[in-house]
Amino acid sequence: MTSAGVVLGDRFARELPELAVRWQAESVPEARLLVLNEPLAVELGLDPDWLRGPDGVGLLTGTVLPPGAVPVAQAYAGHQFGGYVPRLGDGRALLLGELTTPGGELRDLHLKGSGPTPFARGGDGLAAVGPMLREYIVGEGMHALGIPTTRALAVVATGRSVQRETLLPGAVLARVARSHLRVGTFQYAASTGDPGLLRRLADHAIARHHPQAAQADNRYLALFDAVVAAQADLVARWMLVGFVHGVMNTDNTTISGETIDYGPCAFMEAYHPETVFSSIDTWGRYAYGNQPTIMGWNLARFAETLLPLIHDDQDTAIALAQVRLQEFGPRFQAALDAGMRAKLGLPAGLAEDVATPLMNDLIALLAANRVDFTSFFRRLGRAARGEVEPVRAMFGVDPAGFDDWLARWRALEPDAAVMDRVNPAYIPRNHLVEEALAAATAGDLAPLHRLVEAIRAPYDERPGFERYAEPAPEDFGPYQTFCGT
Ligand code: AMP
Ligand code: MG
Repeated sequence: MTSAGVVLGDRFARELPELAVRWQAESVPEARLLVLNEPLAVELGLDPDWLRGPDGVGLLTGTVLPPGAVPVAQAYAGHQFGGYVPRLGDGRALLLGELTTPGGELRDLHLKGSGPTPFARGGDGLAAVGPMLREYIVGEGMHALGIPTTRALAVVATGRSVQRETLLPGAVLARVARSHLRVGTFQYAASTGDPGLLRRLADHAIARHHPQAAQADNRYLALFDAVVAAQADLVARWMLVGFVHGVMNTDNTTISGETIDYGPCAFMEAYHPETVFSSIDTWGRYAYGNQPTIMGWNLARFAETLLPLIHDDQDTAIALAQVRLQEFGPRFQAALDAGMRAKLGLPAGLAEDVATPLMNDLIALLAANRVDFTSFFRRLGRAARGEVEPVRAMFGVDPAGFDDWLARWRALEPDAAVMDRVNPAYIPRNHLVEEALAAATAGDLAPLHRLVEAIRAPYDERPGFERYAEPAPEDFGPYQTFCGT
């Protein structure tokens, strides 16, 4: 059997046919597997050796599918940079179907760059090698940091050129997610005015992601609540590692609470809340420090779609949803505070009136001195063990303000072991990602593999990986990322 027993379910296509356009991946002139995520393949119960073979690569490009598979382009809408687009959808992507893991969980197997669909809106439906490898690297880094995320299973070069600013080698990304349901999926379903469709979508989301909501008196309000909680936790985790998503449109906000769509994203080095990387985000809408506010805004858009399910009377529905939405801020803050306490190794139960000013004063010092966010906390762990000079050196010629802070903090007897478990030494730093992508595009995958090796064990500092723990050299310059990838 050519498909090696791979079974792709069609639950989404079956339960929500109004949101699924049957479609086929474009042929691939000259497929060449660039990277295969072996640990992920094993988790999914797929045989890595088979995936490397012709039928496996056929699956990873959507060109050889197991019997019964129903690939579809998914419909969704979305607010992009605040403006509503009623019809976005998978313009260059396909849901191949749902895999069932050995543990019995469902995972979407999805392609990006598999050719234009009816949602392509003039786009070519293709993807370039660089951005797809970038999604692979950053997703693996996020996963290793314990942050919920979609993950790349493989990137296959197609042998087809893609026209961007220049002609680039094309690729197909095979992506795995708990699902591809987005706030934008609900916006699209709500806009059809078909209450049956909206209800089916909500029930599908509850069954797949938030089954405990089915037990609640008001299951749709409970669904909203569960998504608020998941996203509050997710954004707090982003903030704790300095991650800037870059394009937090409602179509890039999942119902599962996973990070999705690594386009113009990047990790902040010098700490500053106004940090923006995306070349098109001139207003700083999706700046580092704005991310919680934007997520709250996106969740308000989600709530709007659910109102008819929450209560027949609209005013009552709004009042109910508002109470839950207002919990986003406190939930986010609680997750952020707990994470920050761990980053600082603070003793359990430390009073809020000690911890809060300590954290706020530190943030102000980091911003004023534009300190490298990631290496700061790692070096602070050394300071907890008595070796204070490496971290002091980050505050320039006049570290007096930091010295005061350091004395206050050390008096609390911070726990260095806790700190080392939550403060990564290695993250996918922008200059390292660019270096790996440039080499890979020119045919050398060694730097990519080395970088992935570093970031897959982010807390485990190892000899030979010193440069992966360092900020970008001065000559790397101000970093920008680009949309339309
Ligand atoms: P993204 O910014 O990647 O989240 O994509 C936003 C929307 O643009 C989605 O509807 C995509 O399917 C669509 N899109 C992005 N790039 C392309 C492309 N090259 N061809 C067709 N559609 C695209
Ligand atoms: Mg997207």
